[in-house]
Amino acid sequence: MTAPEGYAPGIKVRYHGSLTDQHGEYVILDVCECGACDEADDWAAFTRMPRQPRYVLATGRGERAHLAHVRHASVTP
Ligand SMILES: [Zn+2]
Repeated sequence: MTAPEGYAPGIKVRYHGSLTDQHGEYVILDVCECGACDEADDWAAFTRMPRQPRYVLATGRGERAHLAHVRHASVTP
């Protein structure tokens, strides 16, 4: 897939998505490119909906993945 516009790995963001008990500050570890997110991205491209990158979030720099499949709209730098 081509890289959609999105936040770069390493930047700090605040998560305010559907998992309310996980709300807080995180660091973007990477773009989530698992099968489910790839499929969602393909579907968005097919239906010409705005494409949204999804992210893997860590609790801090150097930490391991904590949340995956996080929608672009669910985080704010
Ligand atoms: Zn995913």
